[in-house]
Amino acid sequence: MRAYRAALLRFDDEGRPVYDADGLLVVGPDPSAAAGAGGGVRVVRAAGSWSALKDRFPGVAVEHLPGRLIAPGFVDLHIHFPQTDVIGSPAEGLLPWLEHYTFPHEARFADADYAGEVADFFLAELQRQGVTTALTFGTSHPASVDALMSRAQARGLRLIAGKVLQDRHSPDGVRDDTEQSLADTEALIQRWHGQGRLGYAITPRFAPTCSDAQMRGAGELAARYPEVWIQSHVAENHDEVRWVAELYPDARSYLAVYERFGLLRERAVYAHCIHLDDTDRALMRATGAAAAVSPTSNLFLGSGFYDYAEAHRHGLRHGLASDVGGGTSFSPFHTMLAAYYVGREGHSKAGVSLAPSQLWWQHTAGAAQALGLEGVVGNLQPGCEADFVVLDPQATPLLARRSSQAANLEELLFSLIVLGDDRAVQAVHVAGAAQGLVRPA
Ligand SMILES: [Zn+2]
Repeated sequence: MRAYRAALLRFDDEGRPVYDADGLLVVGPDPSAAAGAGGGVRVVRAAGSWSALKDRFPGVAVEHLPGRLIAPGFVDLHIHFPQTDVIGSPAEGLLPWLEHYTFPHEARFADADYAGEVADFFLAELQRQGVTTALTFGTSHPASVDALMSRAQARGLRLIAGKVLQDRHSPDGVRDDTEQSLADTEALIQRWHGQGRLGYAITPRFAPTCSDAQMRGAGELAARYPEVWIQSHVAENHDEVRWVAELYPDARSYLAVYERFGLLRERAVYAHCIHLDDTDRALMRATGAAAAVSPTSNLFLGSGFYDYAEAHRHGLRHGLASDVGGGTSFSPFHTMLAAYYVGREGHSKAGVSLAPSQLWWQHTAGAAQALGLEGVVGNLQPGCEADFVVLDPQATPLLARRSSQAANLEELLFSLIVLGDDRAVQAVHVAGAAQGLVRPA
Protein backbone atom coordinates (compact mmCIF):
# COMPACT_ATOMS: atom_id res chain seq x y z
CA MET A 1 0.00 0.00 0.00
CA ARG A 2 1.00 3.58 -0.49
CA ALA A 3 -0.45 6.86 0.74
CA TYR A 4 -0.42 10.47 -0.45
CA ARG A 5 -1.01 13.52 1.73
CA ALA A 6 -2.28 16.61 -0.12
CA ALA A 7 -5.49 18.51 -0.71
CA LEU A 8 -7.97 15.90 -1.93
CA LEU A 9 -11.03 16.20 -4.20
CA ARG A 10 -13.66 13.52 -4.79
CA PHE A 11 -17.45 13.38 -5.26
CA ASP A 12 -20.41 11.91 -3.40
CA ASP A 13 -23.14 9.87 -5.09
CA GLU A 14 -25.16 13.02 -5.82
CA GLY A 15 -22.24 14.64 -7.64
CA ARG A 16 -21.41 17.06 -4.84
CA PRO A 17 -17.73 17.72 -4.21
CA VAL A 18 -16.09 16.25 -1.11
CA TYR A 19 -12.94 18.17 -0.25
CA ASP A 20 -10.21 17.80 2.33
CA ALA A 21 -7.75 20.71 2.37
CA ASP A 22 -5.35 18.38 4.24
CA GLY A 23 -6.31 14.96 2.94
CA LEU A 24 -4.96 11.45 2.72
CA LEU A 25 -5.38 9.02 -0.17
CA VAL A 26 -4.44 5.40 0.50
CA VAL A 27 -4.11 3.03 -2.49
CA GLY A 28 -3.38 -0.68 -2.55
CA PRO A 29 -4.38 -4.04 -3.97
CA ASP A 30 -8.11 -4.63 -4.40
CA PRO A 31 -9.20 -6.63 -1.32
CA SER A 32 -12.32 -7.88 -3.13
CA ALA A 33 -10.37 -9.31 -6.09
CA ALA A 34 -9.95 -13.07 -6.12
CA ALA A 35 -6.37 -14.26 -5.70
CA GLY A 36 -4.55 -13.73 -8.94
CA ALA A 37 -7.36 -11.63 -10.41
CA GLY A 38 -7.41 -7.87 -10.79
CA GLY A 39 -4.37 -7.66 -13.04
CA GLY A 40 -2.38 -5.57 -10.58
CA VAL A 41 -4.92 -2.75 -10.64
CA ARG A 42 -4.64 -0.94 -7.36
CA VAL A 43 -7.68 0.74 -5.88
CA VAL A 44 -8.47 3.45 -3.37
CA ARG A 45 -8.41 1.83 0.08
CA ALA A 46 -9.23 5.01 2.01
CA ALA A 47 -9.75 8.69 1.33
CA GLY A 48 -10.45 11.49 3.77
CA SER A 49 -8.85 13.98 6.09
CA TRP A 50 -5.27 13.43 7.21
CA SER A 51 -6.16 13.85 10.87
CA ALA A 52 -8.93 11.22 10.73
CA LEU A 53 -6.97 8.61 8.78
CA LYS A 54 -3.32 9.05 9.75
CA ASP A 55 -3.36 6.46 12.56
CA ARG A 56 -5.29 3.81 10.63
CA PHE A 57 -2.43 2.81 8.32
CA PRO A 58 0.69 2.34 10.43
CA GLY A 59 3.73 1.34 8.42
CA VAL A 60 2.32 2.64 5.13
CA ALA A 61 4.72 5.04 3.41
CA VAL A 62 3.18 8.50 3.04
CA GLU A 63 4.30 10.83 0.27
CA HIS A 64 3.67 14.39 1.40
CA LEU A 65 2.74 16.78 -1.41
CA PRO A 66 2.26 20.19 0.23
CA GLY A 67 0.42 22.73 -1.88
CA ARG A 68 -0.79 20.10 -4.33
CA LEU A 69 -4.32 18.96 -5.16
CA ILE A 70 -5.04 15.27 -5.78
CA ALA A 71 -8.12 14.79 -7.96
CA PRO A 72 -9.63 11.95 -10.00
CA GLY A 73 -8.07 11.30 -13.41
CA PHE A 74 -10.18 12.99 -16.08
CA VAL A 75 -12.57 10.99 -18.27
CA ASP A 76 -12.92 12.13 -21.90
CA LEU A 77 -16.32 10.97 -23.10
CA HIS A 78 -15.75 11.46 -26.83
CA ILE A 79 -12.57 11.80 -28.85
CA HIS A 80 -11.15 10.58 -32.19
CA PHE A 81 -7.59 9.28 -31.79
CA PRO A 82 -7.00 9.32 -35.59
CA GLN A 83 -7.82 13.04 -35.66
CA THR A 84 -4.86 13.96 -33.46
CA ASP A 85 -3.26 15.62 -36.50
CA VAL A 86 -6.53 17.18 -37.74
CA ILE A 87 -6.79 19.47 -34.70
CA GLY A 88 -6.93 23.13 -35.72
CA SER A 89 -8.06 22.60 -39.33
CA PRO A 90 -10.32 25.48 -40.40
CA ALA A 91 -13.48 24.71 -42.40
CA GLU A 92 -16.94 25.97 -43.28
CA GLY A 93 -18.65 23.86 -40.62
CA LEU A 94 -18.94 20.15 -39.94
CA LEU A 95 -19.64 18.58 -43.34
CA PRO A 96 -16.92 20.46 -45.31
CA TRP A 97 -14.50 19.79 -42.43
CA LEU A 98 -15.16 16.04 -42.71
CA GLU A 99 -14.76 16.09 -46.49
CA HIS A 100 -11.62 18.24 -46.76
CA TYR A 101 -9.60 17.24 -43.70
CA THR A 102 -10.93 14.31 -41.75
CA PHE A 103 -11.73 11.65 -44.34
CA PRO A 104 -8.47 12.06 -46.33
CA HIS A 105 -6.48 11.91 -43.11
CA GLU A 106 -8.30 8.89 -41.70
CA ALA A 107 -7.62 6.96 -44.92
CA ARG A 108 -3.96 6.74 -43.84
CA PHE A 109 -4.88 4.47 -40.91
CA ALA A 110 -5.13 1.45 -43.19
CA ASP A 111 -1.35 1.34 -42.49
CA ALA A 112 -0.88 -0.34 -39.09
CA ASP A 113 2.55 1.22 -38.50
CA TYR A 114 1.19 4.69 -39.13
CA ALA A 115 -1.78 3.99 -36.82
CA GLY A 116 0.62 2.78 -34.14
CA GLU A 117 2.77 5.89 -34.27
CA VAL A 118 -0.30 8.15 -33.89
CA ALA A 119 -1.67 5.91 -31.10
CA ASP A 120 1.56 6.27 -29.12
CA PHE A 121 1.47 10.04 -29.40
CA PHE A 122 -2.26 10.18 -28.62
CA LEU A 123 -2.00 8.13 -25.42
CA ALA A 124 1.04 10.07 -24.23
CA GLU A 125 -0.78 13.35 -24.86
CA LEU A 126 -3.92 12.24 -22.98
CA GLN A 127 -1.75 11.28 -20.02
CA ARG A 128 0.24 14.52 -20.12
CA GLN A 129 -3.06 16.40 -19.86
CA GLY A 130 -4.36 14.29 -16.95
CA VAL A 131 -6.88 12.19 -18.90
CA THR A 132 -6.83 8.57 -17.69
CA THR A 133 -9.93 7.18 -19.43
CA ALA A 134 -11.28 7.97 -22.90
CA LEU A 135 -14.08 6.73 -25.12
CA THR A 136 -12.51 7.05 -28.54
CA PHE A 137 -13.27 6.44 -32.18
CA GLY A 138 -10.80 4.55 -34.36
CA THR A 139 -11.10 4.72 -38.13
CA SER A 140 -12.98 2.25 -40.32
CA HIS A 141 -9.81 0.12 -40.48
CA PRO A 142 -9.69 -2.66 -37.84
CA ALA A 143 -5.91 -2.16 -37.67
CA SER A 144 -6.49 1.27 -36.13
CA VAL A 145 -8.24 -0.35 -33.17
CA ASP A 146 -5.60 -3.07 -32.76
CA ALA A 147 -2.89 -0.40 -32.79
CA LEU A 148 -4.59 1.65 -30.08
CA MET A 149 -5.80 -1.18 -27.86
CA SER A 150 -2.44 -2.95 -27.70
CA ARG A 151 -0.72 0.25 -26.64
CA ALA A 152 -3.42 1.18 -24.10
CA GLN A 153 -3.10 -2.29 -22.60
CA ALA A 154 0.65 -1.88 -22.25
CA ARG A 155 0.03 1.36 -20.34
CA GLY A 156 -2.62 -0.26 -18.11
CA LEU A 157 -5.25 2.29 -19.14
CA ARG A 158 -8.99 1.89 -18.84
CA LEU A 159 -9.79 2.83 -22.43
CA ILE A 160 -12.79 2.16 -24.65
CA ALA A 161 -12.54 2.27 -28.45
CA GLY A 162 -14.16 0.98 -31.61
CA LYS A 163 -13.77 0.61 -35.35
CA VAL A 164 -15.87 3.16 -37.23
CA LEU A 165 -18.76 1.84 -39.32
CA GLN A 166 -19.36 3.89 -42.49
CA ASP A 167 -20.49 2.00 -45.60
CA ARG A 168 -22.08 4.90 -47.54
CA HIS A 169 -21.65 8.62 -48.30
CA SER A 170 -17.95 8.17 -47.59
CA PRO A 171 -15.01 8.39 -50.01
CA ASP A 172 -12.74 5.55 -51.09
CA GLY A 173 -10.18 4.81 -48.42
CA VAL A 174 -12.52 5.10 -45.46
CA ARG A 175 -15.77 3.54 -46.76
CA ASP A 176 -16.18 -0.03 -45.49
CA ASP A 177 -18.17 -3.03 -46.71
CA THR A 178 -21.41 -3.74 -44.86
CA GLU A 179 -20.97 -7.43 -44.09
CA GLN A 180 -17.22 -7.27 -43.56
CA SER A 181 -17.56 -4.27 -41.23
CA LEU A 182 -19.94 -6.17 -38.97
CA ALA A 183 -17.77 -9.29 -38.96
CA ASP A 184 -14.74 -7.12 -38.15
CA THR A 185 -16.65 -5.46 -35.30
CA GLU A 186 -17.58 -8.78 -33.74
CA ALA A 187 -14.01 -10.08 -34.06
CA LEU A 188 -12.69 -6.92 -32.37
CA ILE A 189 -15.23 -7.27 -29.54
CA GLN A 190 -14.01 -10.79 -28.92
CA ARG A 191 -10.35 -9.77 -29.17
CA TRP A 192 -10.44 -6.70 -26.93
CA HIS A 193 -13.57 -6.25 -24.83
CA GLY A 194 -12.82 -7.06 -21.19
CA GLN A 195 -9.13 -7.68 -21.83
CA GLY A 196 -7.59 -6.17 -18.72
CA ARG A 197 -9.17 -2.72 -18.42
CA LEU A 198 -10.10 -2.36 -22.09
CA GLY A 199 -13.61 -2.05 -23.47
CA TYR A 200 -15.07 -2.08 -26.96
CA ALA A 201 -17.60 0.37 -28.40
CA ILE A 202 -19.76 -0.37 -31.45
CA THR A 203 -19.15 2.77 -33.52
CA PRO A 204 -21.52 3.82 -36.31
CA ARG A 205 -19.94 7.11 -37.44
CA PHE A 206 -23.31 8.84 -37.75
CA ALA A 207 -26.60 7.98 -39.41
CA PRO A 208 -25.79 9.57 -42.83
CA THR A 209 -22.71 7.35 -43.37
CA CYS A 210 -24.33 4.04 -42.38
CA SER A 211 -26.77 2.06 -44.53
CA ASP A 212 -29.88 0.57 -42.95
CA ALA A 213 -28.28 -2.87 -43.16
CA GLN A 214 -25.17 -1.66 -41.34
CA MET A 215 -27.21 0.12 -38.66
CA ARG A 216 -29.40 -2.96 -38.22
CA GLY A 217 -26.32 -5.15 -37.87
CA ALA A 218 -24.82 -2.74 -35.33
CA GLY A 219 -28.05 -2.87 -33.32
CA GLU A 220 -28.03 -6.67 -33.39
CA LEU A 221 -24.46 -6.72 -32.07
CA ALA A 222 -25.45 -4.21 -29.38
CA ALA A 223 -28.22 -6.56 -28.25
CA ARG A 224 -25.97 -9.64 -28.34
CA TYR A 225 -23.20 -7.91 -26.34
CA PRO A 226 -24.99 -5.76 -23.73
CA GLU A 227 -21.77 -5.01 -21.81
CA VAL A 228 -20.21 -3.47 -24.91
CA TRP A 229 -20.53 0.29 -25.41
CA ILE A 230 -22.07 2.17 -28.36
CA GLN A 231 -20.71 5.53 -29.54
CA SER A 232 -21.90 7.83 -32.29
CA HIS A 233 -22.89 11.42 -33.07
CA VAL A 234 -26.31 13.07 -33.07
CA ALA A 235 -27.81 16.51 -33.72
CA GLU A 236 -24.53 18.40 -34.01
CA ASN A 237 -25.38 21.02 -36.63
CA HIS A 238 -28.31 22.19 -38.75
CA ASP A 239 -27.01 20.98 -42.14
CA GLU A 240 -26.42 17.51 -40.71
CA VAL A 241 -29.88 17.42 -39.10
CA ARG A 242 -31.46 18.43 -42.45
CA TRP A 243 -29.50 15.71 -44.25
CA VAL A 244 -30.77 13.05 -41.85
CA ALA A 245 -34.33 14.31 -42.32
CA GLU A 246 -33.91 13.86 -46.11
CA LEU A 247 -32.47 10.36 -45.69
CA TYR A 248 -35.16 9.29 -43.21
CA PRO A 249 -38.29 11.32 -44.13
CA ASP A 250 -40.48 9.07 -41.98
CA ALA A 251 -38.32 9.34 -38.84
CA ARG A 252 -39.68 11.52 -36.03
CA SER A 253 -36.22 12.95 -35.42
CA TYR A 254 -32.51 12.31 -35.96
CA LEU A 255 -32.26 10.58 -32.58
CA ALA A 256 -35.25 8.36 -33.47
CA VAL A 257 -33.19 6.86 -36.31
CA TYR A 258 -30.82 5.35 -33.75
CA GLU A 259 -33.77 4.13 -31.69
CA ARG A 260 -35.22 2.38 -34.75
CA PHE A 261 -32.07 0.29 -35.08
CA GLY A 262 -31.72 -0.62 -31.40
CA LEU A 263 -28.84 1.75 -30.75
CA LEU A 264 -30.22 3.61 -27.72
CA ARG A 265 -29.56 1.86 -24.43
CA GLU A 266 -27.39 1.99 -21.32
CA ARG A 267 -23.72 2.40 -22.30
CA ALA A 268 -24.66 4.26 -25.51
CA VAL A 269 -22.90 7.64 -25.70
CA TYR A 270 -23.90 10.23 -28.31
CA ALA A 271 -21.68 13.19 -28.99
CA HIS A 272 -23.17 16.71 -29.17
CA CYS A 273 -26.98 16.31 -28.59
CA ILE A 274 -27.42 20.01 -29.36
CA HIS A 275 -30.47 20.17 -31.63
CA LEU A 276 -32.79 17.89 -29.65
CA ASP A 277 -36.38 18.48 -28.60
CA ASP A 278 -38.19 17.46 -25.42
CA THR A 279 -39.30 14.13 -26.90
CA ASP A 280 -35.69 13.33 -27.80
CA ARG A 281 -34.49 14.19 -24.31
CA ALA A 282 -37.20 12.04 -22.75
CA LEU A 283 -36.14 9.21 -25.08
CA MET A 284 -32.52 9.52 -24.00
CA ARG A 285 -33.54 9.53 -20.37
CA ALA A 286 -35.83 6.51 -20.80
CA THR A 287 -33.25 4.43 -22.64
CA GLY A 288 -30.27 5.37 -20.47
CA ALA A 289 -28.29 6.77 -23.41
CA ALA A 290 -25.88 9.58 -22.49
CA ALA A 291 -24.70 12.82 -24.09
CA ALA A 292 -21.01 13.60 -24.63
CA VAL A 293 -20.97 17.40 -24.45
CA SER A 294 -18.15 18.65 -26.68
CA PRO A 295 -17.95 22.41 -26.14
CA THR A 296 -14.61 23.35 -27.77
CA SER A 297 -15.65 21.44 -30.88
CA ASN A 298 -19.10 23.03 -30.96
CA LEU A 299 -17.64 26.52 -30.59
CA PHE A 300 -14.88 25.84 -33.16
CA LEU A 301 -17.21 24.46 -35.84
CA GLY A 302 -20.01 26.86 -34.91
CA SER A 303 -22.42 23.98 -34.41
CA GLY A 304 -24.54 25.36 -31.56
CA PHE A 305 -24.86 25.35 -27.79
CA TYR A 306 -25.73 22.36 -25.62
CA ASP A 307 -28.82 23.23 -23.56
CA TYR A 308 -27.84 22.53 -19.96
CA ALA A 309 -31.09 23.86 -18.48
CA GLU A 310 -33.19 21.44 -20.56
CA ALA A 311 -30.75 18.60 -20.00
CA HIS A 312 -31.00 19.10 -16.24
CA ARG A 313 -34.80 19.40 -16.40
CA HIS A 314 -35.00 16.02 -18.17
CA GLY A 315 -32.38 14.36 -15.98
CA LEU A 316 -30.19 13.61 -18.98
CA ARG A 317 -27.00 11.73 -18.31
CA HIS A 318 -24.05 13.67 -19.66
CA GLY A 319 -20.35 14.33 -19.36
CA LEU A 320 -17.63 16.36 -21.02
CA ALA A 321 -15.59 15.51 -24.06
CA SER A 322 -12.80 17.09 -26.07
CA ASP A 323 -13.98 15.78 -29.47
CA VAL A 324 -10.47 16.22 -30.85
CA GLY A 325 -9.94 16.91 -33.77
CA GLY A 326 -13.18 18.95 -34.10
CA GLY A 327 -12.31 20.04 -30.58
CA THR A 328 -9.39 22.38 -30.13
CA SER A 329 -7.66 20.97 -27.07
CA PHE A 330 -6.83 17.76 -25.23
CA SER A 331 -6.84 19.76 -21.99
CA PRO A 332 -9.71 19.05 -19.58
CA PHE A 333 -9.27 22.58 -18.22
CA HIS A 334 -9.94 24.10 -21.65
CA THR A 335 -12.94 21.81 -22.14
CA MET A 336 -14.42 22.75 -18.75
CA LEU A 337 -13.97 26.46 -19.49
CA ALA A 338 -15.62 26.08 -22.89
CA ALA A 339 -18.51 24.23 -21.21
CA TYR A 340 -18.91 27.22 -18.92
CA TYR A 341 -19.13 29.53 -21.97
CA VAL A 342 -21.66 27.20 -23.61
CA GLY A 343 -23.73 27.11 -20.42
CA ARG A 344 -23.66 30.91 -20.09
CA GLU A 345 -24.78 31.51 -23.68
CA GLY A 346 -28.32 32.80 -23.31
CA HIS A 347 -29.48 33.81 -26.79
CA SER A 348 -30.36 30.45 -28.33
CA LYS A 349 -31.49 28.93 -25.01
CA ALA A 350 -31.58 29.72 -21.29
CA GLY A 351 -28.16 30.77 -19.96
CA VAL A 352 -26.93 29.09 -16.78
CA SER A 353 -23.79 29.48 -14.67
CA LEU A 354 -22.44 26.00 -14.05
CA ALA A 355 -20.65 25.70 -10.72
CA PRO A 356 -16.94 24.91 -11.04
CA SER A 357 -17.37 21.68 -9.07
CA GLN A 358 -20.22 20.71 -11.41
CA LEU A 359 -17.99 21.30 -14.46
CA TRP A 360 -15.29 19.20 -12.79
CA TRP A 361 -17.79 16.43 -12.00
CA GLN A 362 -18.90 16.35 -15.63
CA HIS A 363 -15.33 15.56 -16.67
CA THR A 364 -14.70 12.94 -13.93
CA ALA A 365 -17.37 11.13 -11.92
CA GLY A 366 -20.22 12.36 -14.13
CA ALA A 367 -18.54 11.16 -17.30
CA ALA A 368 -17.85 7.83 -15.59
CA GLN A 369 -21.53 7.59 -14.65
CA ALA A 370 -22.49 8.26 -18.28
CA LEU A 371 -20.32 5.26 -19.22
CA GLY A 372 -21.86 3.05 -16.53
CA LEU A 373 -18.49 3.10 -14.73
CA GLU A 374 -19.51 4.94 -11.56
CA GLY A 375 -17.50 3.67 -8.62
CA VAL A 376 -14.86 2.35 -11.05
CA VAL A 377 -13.12 5.42 -12.46
CA GLY A 378 -13.59 9.20 -12.30
CA ASN A 379 -13.71 9.30 -8.51
CA LEU A 380 -11.54 8.61 -5.48
CA GLN A 381 -13.99 6.98 -3.12
CA PRO A 382 -12.85 3.69 -1.55
CA GLY A 383 -13.02 0.89 -4.11
CA CYS A 384 -12.44 3.09 -7.15
CA GLU A 385 -9.53 2.18 -9.39
CA ALA A 386 -6.64 4.44 -8.41
CA ASP A 387 -6.44 6.68 -11.49
CA PHE A 388 -5.60 10.17 -10.26
CA VAL A 389 -3.76 13.38 -11.00
CA VAL A 390 -1.57 15.57 -8.83
CA LEU A 391 -2.27 19.19 -9.71
CA ASP A 392 -0.14 22.22 -8.94
CA PRO A 393 -2.19 25.39 -8.42
CA GLN A 394 1.09 27.34 -8.43
CA ALA A 395 2.11 26.13 -11.90
CA THR A 396 2.18 29.58 -13.52
CA PRO A 397 2.58 33.07 -12.02
CA LEU A 398 -0.98 34.19 -12.70
CA LEU A 399 -2.51 30.87 -11.62
CA ALA A 400 -0.43 30.96 -8.41
CA ARG A 401 -1.51 34.52 -7.69
CA ARG A 402 -5.20 33.86 -8.35
CA SER A 403 -5.44 30.44 -6.68
CA SER A 404 -3.69 31.70 -3.54
CA GLN A 405 -6.56 34.19 -3.12
CA ALA A 406 -9.28 31.55 -3.52
CA ALA A 407 -11.64 31.82 -0.54
CA ASN A 408 -13.25 28.41 -0.99
CA LEU A 409 -13.20 25.23 -3.06
CA GLU A 410 -15.31 26.65 -5.90
CA GLU A 411 -12.93 29.59 -6.34
CA LEU A 412 -9.91 27.26 -6.26
CA LEU A 413 -11.42 24.96 -8.90
CA PHE A 414 -12.47 27.89 -11.09
CA SER A 415 -8.97 29.37 -10.99
CA LEU A 416 -7.67 26.07 -12.37
CA ILE A 417 -10.47 25.83 -14.97
CA VAL A 418 -9.90 29.37 -16.26
CA LEU A 419 -6.09 29.58 -15.96
CA GLY A 420 -4.93 25.96 -15.88
CA ASP A 421 -3.51 23.73 -18.61
CA ASP A 422 -1.01 20.87 -18.90
CA ARG A 423 1.51 22.85 -16.83
CA ALA A 424 -0.73 22.32 -13.79
CA VAL A 425 -0.66 18.53 -14.20
CA GLN A 426 2.33 17.53 -12.13
CA ALA A 427 1.87 13.76 -12.11
CA VAL A 428 -0.55 11.11 -13.31
CA HIS A 429 -1.15 7.77 -11.62
CA VAL A 430 -2.80 4.93 -13.55
CA ALA A 431 -4.20 2.03 -11.52
CA GLY A 432 -2.11 3.17 -8.59
CA ALA A 433 1.15 3.29 -10.53
CA ALA A 434 2.89 6.61 -11.03
CA GLN A 435 3.37 7.23 -14.73
CA GLY A 436 6.39 9.38 -14.05
CA LEU A 437 6.37 13.00 -13.08
CA VAL A 438 5.32 15.01 -16.05
CA ARG A 439 7.42 17.89 -14.80
CA PRO A 440 9.59 18.28 -11.70
CA ALA A 441 7.91 19.28 -8.45
ZN1 LIG B 1 -16.79 13.35 -32.84
